[in-house]
Amino acid sequence: MQRRDFLASAGWAAAGAGLGVRAAPVAAQDGQAGTGRLAVAVARTFAVGQARVTALADGYLAVGSEVLAGITEEDFARLTAEAHRPTSPHVIGVNAYLIETAGQRILVDTGTGPLFGPTLGDLPANLTALGIAPDTIDTVVATHLHPDHIGGVVAGDAMPFPNAGLIVSETDRAFWTDAAIEAQTPADLQGFFDAAQGALARFGERVIPVEGQADLGHGMTALPLPGHTVGHMGVLLEDSGAQLLIWGDVMHFPAIQFRRPDVTVGFDTDPDQARRTRMKAFDMVAQDQMMVAGMHLDFPGVGHVERAAEGYRFVPQGYPYVV
Ligand SMILES: [Zn+2]
Repeated sequence: MQRRDFLASAGWAAAGAGLGVRAAPVAAQDGQAGTGRLAVAVARTFAVGQARVTALADGYLAVGSEVLAGITEEDFARLTAEAHRPTSPHVIGVNAYLIETAGQRILVDTGTGPLFGPTLGDLPANLTALGIAPDTIDTVVATHLHPDHIGGVVAGDAMPFPNAGLIVSETDRAFWTDAAIEAQTPADLQGFFDAAQGALARFGERVIPVEGQADLGHGMTALPLPGHTVGHMGVLLEDSGAQLLIWGDVMHFPAIQFRRPDVTVGFDTDPDQARRTRMKAFDMVAQDQMMVAGMHLDFPGVGHVERAAEGYRFVPQGYPYVV
């Protein structure tokens, strides 16, 4: 199956006009439990050395095996069952992370904004619930320019983070603004380019392109993790001997890809490179016992990765009573 078919079948088909990238929301069915959603603010703050990091929930996507490549339906069902998750709908979260350090507020990714429908777009409300005004965000870092990561800055009349600069990989910026690549892209994926270009336009002169392993200041380093997009990157935060790697979209399906890191998703720009990057990242964070945070891990998406008999396993962070 071609990548465009994965995307179309997953409900990721973008409307030709505007920024109408959508994913199918979970359909509520009469009398069936579990089709509602949390209606409370969802955020969790924890310490990384002297720095404070807050996981922010944006909501969830209902996606299934149709967006995966390299796994049979039987193995998808088996791994899902062994993770004690429902097969249908198979739900993945969308998170963002706020770093507060040295008087600075750095928001890593911005969620989906209004682009993905009613099960997503909660990040602004969660920031408000925390008492964090959007104009106090100093910097936004985009792990990559996909719409579920920069959707929070592209829609609406006013700039959501009026005082922030946008740190983005130059490689990703160049890809998503390349007219020749865009011209070769099927019309149903045009929304990805619209969203990326919309985000870049919003920040204008305040776009800060970075290349390679770049020092972002305040103990933060941009770590190239290419494949999911050509310039996809993580943010490594180091403070007072503690470390956290916010790894963006190194993986998307917690129930599947820890056990089977070889499985790729249809919206990887380069699936082979994404697979190699995932395996290298898992190996590194397991070896170094490095705490990680992931945009599509179950909220708050923070914990450690360990080797397991089959692939790896994720050990979620315990509740951070003491910060
Ligand atoms: Zn994503």
